[in-house]
Amino acid sequence: MRLLITGGAGFIGSHLCDRALAEGHDVVAMDSLITGNRANIAHLENNPGFRFIKHDVTRYIDFEGPLDVVLHFASPASPVDYVKLPIQTLKASSLGTHNALGLARARGARFLLASTSEVYGDPKVHPQHESYVGHVDTLGPRGVYDNAKRYAEALTMAFHRVHGIDTRIVRIFNTYGPRMRLEDGRVVPNFIAQSLRGEPLTVYGDGSQTRSFQYVNDLIEGVWRLLETPCHEPVNIGNPREMTIMNFAMVVNELTNNPAGIIFQTDSRMTGDPQTRQPDISRARKVLGWEPQVGLREGLASTIDFFRNVM
Ligand code: NAD
Ligand code: UDP
Repeated sequence: MRLLITGGAGFIGSHLCDRALAEGHDVVAMDSLITGNRANIAHLENNPGFRFIKHDVTRYIDFEGPLDVVLHFASPASPVDYVKLPIQTLKASSLGTHNALGLARARGARFLLASTSEVYGDPKVHPQHESYVGHVDTLGPRGVYDNAKRYAEALTMAFHRVHGIDTRIVRIFNTYGPRMRLEDGRVVPNFIAQSLRGEPLTVYGDGSQTRSFQYVNDLIEGVWRLLETPCHEPVNIGNPREMTIMNFAMVVNELTNNPAGIIFQTDSRMTGDPQTRQPDISRARKVLGWEPQVGLREGLASTIDFFRNVM
């Protein structure tokens, strides 16, 4: 098969390129590099099955050659990025998803949308099952991302129903691993960079808010299984092991032998910061036979190694 991976030079997109090539497919990575980095795919650039196209998917996508699958991952994804780039974030999941779906339709290609746990907003149901419709603010700083992804899901379902496109929707929960940008502002790169510099970790608020962290290899396996399974309903892919941000900070300090401890900060990003987040993965277990395999300490160890080299 020949796959188009939008956002292919980003953190997750570049791992997807690796997986698709390892499966014996050809890959076109399309990326505007707005938050991505060509270094993430530098090791692939001499591979004859791989091609990079620098392009903004909010503009018409002109694509030559065969096409069997579109994996739409292009969007700023870190709260720091999307607060800085609110209009680009809205456009990536609205115009960008429309262009990517239109291309899939024109070529009869399968289409997979990278959606997010943020479609649940600051959830009132715990853990979050796919049937939960969410508790989402339209006006706050996170609204640009959450609502653009909700629109992208609605558009994907409409193309499926109206045009019969073979679609998939993956709702990704907090994912970390090598190739995250050091300065992307998300909690994993922030804490690891701070700990490797011997600085205190900046816990926002009182640190009682929870997240459930998944290692990137587990996500890629889940996405790949979903791609190969004719399931048009959204599927949560995440690690149900939930913890407070305070506990997470303590684990990072322990793994990096950082004696500097923790400081509490009030960050403007706290506006609308979801207080809890944990995936219900019963659908992924049943439909894909998938569940995460990589433990937190194991995943963090390889991520810390990666950041040590980058720094
Ligand atoms: P990332 O910022 O590393 O990757 C996003 C990529 O998309 C970047 O390379 C960026 O340059 C590219 N991009 C953005 N807008 C574009 C545009 N208009 N045209 C072309 N390229 C564009 O972030 P990531 O964590 O790898 O996220 C990838 C996808 O997964 C995103 O759609 C994100 O919403 C989704 N997601 C990620 C997580 C996570 O925890 N990492 C969680 C939920 C959903
Ligand atoms: N966070 C923190 N310190 C940081 C960065 C983030 O305490 O330096 C918190 C943030 O307030 C949120 C959680 O960590 O509660 C996860 O934030 P992230 O930006 O990684 O992603 P989110 O899950 O909010 O999209």
